[in-house]
Amino acid sequence: MDVNEREGTAPGLASRGNRIMLHESRPLPETAKCTRCRKRAVIALPSHHANFCEECFVFFFRRAVLRAMKKFPVKADETILVAVSGGKDSLAAWAVLQDLGYRTKGVHLNLGIPGFSEASEEAVAAFAGKRNLPWVGYSIEAVFGYSIPDIRRRVRRPICSVCGMIKRQLLNRVTIREGLRVIATGHNLDDEAGRLLGNLVRNRRDYIEKQSPYLPSAHPRLPEKIKPLYRVSADEIRTYCRVRGIAYLEGACPLSRGATSHMFKDALDMLEGKMPGTKRDFLFAYLDARPAPKAVEDFGTCEQCGEPCYGTRCSVCTLLDRLREAPGREKRRDASIPPE
Ligand code: SF4
Ligand code: ZN
Repeated sequence: MDVNEREGTAPGLASRGNRIMLHESRPLPETAKCTRCRKRAVIALPSHHANFCEECFVFFFRRAVLRAMKKFPVKADETILVAVSGGKDSLAAWAVLQDLGYRTKGVHLNLGIPGFSEASEEAVAAFAGKRNLPWVGYSIEAVFGYSIPDIRRRVRRPICSVCGMIKRQLLNRVTIREGLRVIATGHNLDDEAGRLLGNLVRNRRDYIEKQSPYLPSAHPRLPEKIKPLYRVSADEIRTYCRVRGIAYLEGACPLSRGATSHMFKDALDMLEGKMPGTKRDFLFAYLDARPAPKAVEDFGTCEQCGEPCYGTRCSVCTLLDRLREAPGREKRRDASIPPE
């Protein structure tokens, strides 16, 4: 599809106008020239000291993702499973991988969050339908017996850490079940830089050492993980979605309130505003200085479910046992993925 063609919008999703705004929502003067082709520029990228027309912005964005993909050992003919939530990051990741010629399949996890989960699945279905992309959907409640809101009511831990743990395990299992080797997520430059800052502030050395846009497999039931968007910022992704007419679900998960990761991102945004390029310098200086990640052979196998874990029992089985012991309605006793 030519960059000037627009995909349509789906009802209830973010509507896309043809007007391209700056990241800072401040129009460029009419005399601004595209850094690459010298036509009129409509998109400013202060962190790159560049202004672009739409076409050259798309070229710039795809080149950044291609640069990331060249660092990952993905075979040209293999299918990449893309974890999609219906938000801008995951849909942009899926779109750009398809645009770059990669074979992909989407996977959506329905968390059972009223309103949000339906809208999220709807966004994925609409996007996949327009681009004729294959995808599969799984319900957390159908697999584990509990929706995320159910779990939130029953545990004291912050819901995002529990939700993240469950999603990680299910995505691993789905990748293996689909017969695939690689799973891609939509984590972007802001996510990775914010996470690095948070880990440094708290001196979480284990997490810092494992932070990488590519993680090799450390267990036969663990896929390789890639983050194709780690070199592009959230603002650049928003612009890519606008230019390419990608209709995504706007608005955060209603359970995300109070997540501390936002504060580290906000701190970096403040620095970026005063010193454009700070986020990139911060993340890339760290990534360039560290050795390529190796598969860590410290994984065991959960004696209950057979999934990879530290020790003898995985944290999902531990959680499910605790939930089943708690008073409440009768739940499924196993956590197998129901047949399609
Ligand atoms: Fe899960 Fe938290 Fe993300 Fe919501 S914000 S989807 S609860 S991890
Ligand atoms: Zn287990």
